[in-house]
Amino acid sequence: MKFIKAEKLKEKPADQSKLGFGKIFTDYMLTMKYKDGKWGEPVIEPYGPVEFDLATTVFHYAQGIFEGLKAFKNDKGEVRVFRPEENFKRMNRSAERMCIPQIDEKVVLDGLFELLKIEKDWIPTAPGTALYIRPSIIATNVQLGVHAATEYLFFIILSPVGSYYAHGLAPTRLLVEDYYTRATIGGTGESKCIANYAVSLKAGEEAEKKGFDQVLWLDANEKKYVEEVGSMNMFFVIGGEVVTPALVGSILPGITRKSSIELLRAHGYKVTERRVSIDEVIEAQKNGTLDEAFGTGTAAVISPVGMMEYKGADYVVNGGKMGDITKWLYDTITGIQTGRLEDKFGWVVKL
Ligand SMILES: *Cc1c(COP(=O)(O)O)cnc(C)c1O
Repeated sequence: MKFIKAEKLKEKPADQSKLGFGKIFTDYMLTMKYKDGKWGEPVIEPYGPVEFDLATTVFHYAQGIFEGLKAFKNDKGEVRVFRPEENFKRMNRSAERMCIPQIDEKVVLDGLFELLKIEKDWIPTAPGTALYIRPSIIATNVQLGVHAATEYLFFIILSPVGSYYAHGLAPTRLLVEDYYTRATIGGTGESKCIANYAVSLKAGEEAEKKGFDQVLWLDANEKKYVEEVGSMNMFFVIGGEVVTPALVGSILPGITRKSSIELLRAHGYKVTERRVSIDEVIEAQKNGTLDEAFGTGTAAVISPVGMMEYKGADYVVNGGKMGDITKWLYDTITGIQTGRLEDKFGWVVKL
């Protein structure tokens, strides 16, 4: 792997409690170019702006995909990455949907590990912090014709992060969106493509203006079934059963979702993946059987839901407090990630 040394390293953030999310970037990035039908060699080089022609494909037609995962460091200085091979597998599935060439998962994993070894000192260790890893692929041809590109840039950038929400682990307020649509079956909802986020901004902005943290999306066809939250998959605990919307094609297959299902089942909880209608959730809230609701995703890990608004009415979940299963899951996943708990499933790659 090619390595280009930086002339000068940056100052690392002094106060780990004020990191926020995705605002600071490390000294190096990894880049790899696709041209003439093949990927070139990965290069680790100083982090910094890159110049692009304004006719570059990705700027016009959003042919681009990304991933998000985290690395941690324990007291012994050991670097721990949570299920990274799952992210690159999913990246290839997203690539397939967006006509982007497949990457060699082993090459990019090795590249990521090299980059992390160099940037080890950037990994924060305060509770709730991590080094967020953002791999992406963008189409880089200079052309305005609407075609899949023939040139691409794969890159990985790193950002030390604190908690995703400014209010930390406090239960979130969700607005159930019954007009705008994020994804449809046959569309790109199950691919982590950059356009999905542009599509969701308007509903997010309107919800934020009304004082909500996130939008809870319903299915595009009937506006009847729960799909997911902005960047999290959704779980409900109804009458002791954990239910999560089945991956019907318009829902992003989250790695935190998958890990949560595996952990809950191994712990003896009944977990069902099925269609969940918003009416069922509201009914359960009304008759007192909606015990908990939470979202799962790399950025926020496990995020309790304290209330939902649907068609102008407010529904409080678990008295607006974090539920026991939500808390157990948060502690268990973050425990495995940071090394506080035993990694029985072999999910963590140690460097
Ligand atoms: C990335 C993402 C998630 C969460 O996936 P994880 O692999 O758990 O981080 C959920 N929903 C959407 C729309 C996403 O983009």
